[in-house]
Amino acid sequence: MLRERTARYTSRMTEVRILSIIPPMTQLNTPYPSTAYLTGFLRSRGFDAEQADLSIGLALKLLSVEGLQAIHEQVSALPRKQHTAATRFFTEHFESYRTTLSPAIRFLQGRNPGLAYRIASRRYLPEGPRFATLDSYIANGQGEGRKGEVDALDWAFGALGLQDRAKHIATLYLYDLADVIREAIDPRFEFVRYAESLAASQPTFDRLQAALGTPRGLVDAYMHALTLEALSQHQPNLVLITAPFPGNVYGAFRIAQTIKQTNPSIVTVLGGGYCNTELRAMNEPRVFDYFDFITLDAGERPLLALIEHLQNKRPLDRLVRTYTRERHYVDFKEPDIAFSESGTPTYAGLPLDDYLSLLDMLNPMHRLWSDGRWNKLTVAHGCYWKKCSFCDVNLDYISRYDLAATDVLIDRIESLVRETGQTGFHFVDEAAPPKALKSLANALLQRKLEISWWGNIRFEKSFNADLCQLLADSGCIAVTGGLEVASDRLLKLMKKGVSVEQVARVTRAFSDAGILVHAYLMYGFPTQTVQDTVDALEYVRQLFAAGCIQSGFFHRFTCTVHSPVGKHPEQYGVTLSPPPHATFANNDINFMDATGVDHDMFGAGLKKALYNYMHGVGLDHDVREWFEPYAAAGRKNGARRRAVPGVPRTTVPPDLIERSLA
Ligand code: SF4
Repeated sequence: MLRERTARYTSRMTEVRILSIIPPMTQLNTPYPSTAYLTGFLRSRGFDAEQADLSIGLALKLLSVEGLQAIHEQVSALPRKQHTAATRFFTEHFESYRTTLSPAIRFLQGRNPGLAYRIASRRYLPEGPRFATLDSYIANGQGEGRKGEVDALDWAFGALGLQDRAKHIATLYLYDLADVIREAIDPRFEFVRYAESLAASQPTFDRLQAALGTPRGLVDAYMHALTLEALSQHQPNLVLITAPFPGNVYGAFRIAQTIKQTNPSIVTVLGGGYCNTELRAMNEPRVFDYFDFITLDAGERPLLALIEHLQNKRPLDRLVRTYTRERHYVDFKEPDIAFSESGTPTYAGLPLDDYLSLLDMLNPMHRLWSDGRWNKLTVAHGCYWKKCSFCDVNLDYISRYDLAATDVLIDRIESLVRETGQTGFHFVDEAAPPKALKSLANALLQRKLEISWWGNIRFEKSFNADLCQLLADSGCIAVTGGLEVASDRLLKLMKKGVSVEQVARVTRAFSDAGILVHAYLMYGFPTQTVQDTVDALEYVRQLFAAGCIQSGFFHRFTCTVHSPVGKHPEQYGVTLSPPPHATFANNDINFMDATGVDHDMFGAGLKKALYNYMHGVGLDHDVREWFEPYAAAGRKNGARRRAVPGVPRTTVPPDLIERSLA
């Protein structure tokens, strides 16, 4: 149907009007930076470039009085049997939701701070199922915890944190509404991703195509309306849609579908992190019913080439890293735009006052991801280390390391402060280099530029006490970095270039300087044994107990086709499963590990332990306790009896981290 209506663009654009779009859903507290980078770059080259964030647009549309009414109508029409705790509560308290929603949104946008008193009283907002955790315990987010152990709000905010207390309550209130949308309207909906499973590691386009062929439900209808509004406002003839994650891809295609149905001559281009990792071997003509072009890796050079083509100044076979319907993949070799020449990002045109500061976790470090507006910048393109064996070190976004001079970075910071009025910065590097951070800190101090900043680093030894203090003095409030599996054997195998003791010393230096530390943690790496998992958790427990780290996140190792493990599995003791015949996405790949450990049995215990550690709970408990229910479940299951014979005692001395710090 769509294919019949899709007309060809013409490569005779005299005037190029560009609109860059962030498709739903990304994050609610601040714009995803991709369109800001692109728009800044394109404007620096003299183009008419605008941007729109349909992710925050969609969230606010659903969370408007009109949206709430539409949600209520659909929930009311549900058969009794299909109601859940969330939808029942919503129906019973609809009037209360209707009167409180707009004030609560304005409060979360920072426009109505006085409402904090009423919200914090807990007599103002309706409190649905999400509030169960507040009433009784610090929990693991899945209803398991330690009843009566501590009052969560008092622990986190004490008597004075009124605004934060109210923000947390209002966040739970919104999460109740998100549950209602998911359970009654669209099971694919979340505030930070939408229909993710349709795009993540999908070897064919079939599921996505089938979903795009269904009539629009409420969420899609709002997305359709927002797309039409953006087209009408900006009148673009070239639309760039960036899909950083699988959770934006369905949204990206729905937006492109609306554009092509409305005006097929508008040129649509897809780019972003999802394409860079998952679509490197795509061979799917149906994609071009929605997008005229797909570009890979850093977008600046491919877009300049594409615009020249559209202006009839460059033939199709001289495009750069671009999929086209006609020639399929074209990659005329031209150097990328240097990082120092990629322009200053701009947030012009984005509704900066509309973003919602959410406080979902009662952890001071973890809140940085959802709370507050951050100007996003990178210190460098790529990673200076580029060795970790689980990482996409062969792809451009990691492998092409390109650092700009400190002055360029300072100019960008000053420009963003002037434009947005905001002095909070998030450096979204893969791993910001210590030398560049030192130089940046000195420059910030010399110029008396007062900003707060946080970013991603490697826990390498050059971050000693002096450097950490310098960074703190320059405005650094937090760092995030990979500890992965806290095991020296596995850190060596993954070529992480750090040891557990080194991480302890470095993180302690940051913490002593007053900088919060978040550790990315991993489980299920090739050859990881049950003992490794228990010992790694013991290290993590000790790091929390010693005040080295304040926050963390465990994710399950996945093998990607671009990583050294995926390219040389034999060096890591694993065998790859035969890959599916992929014509669309191709990234994650299944593997067999000779250890035969069922890591699924440990994921929940690891996450539960970490959740409690982040709230200061359970730090004196034997780490085996977190796994006990899962080990017991395994023992009850005959099939699993041999795979999970019980959880071994840790082999790590209980004071190892303290001793190494001393
Ligand atoms: S995991 Fe981080 S430090 Fe390691 S290569 Fe990748 S980006 Fe660099």
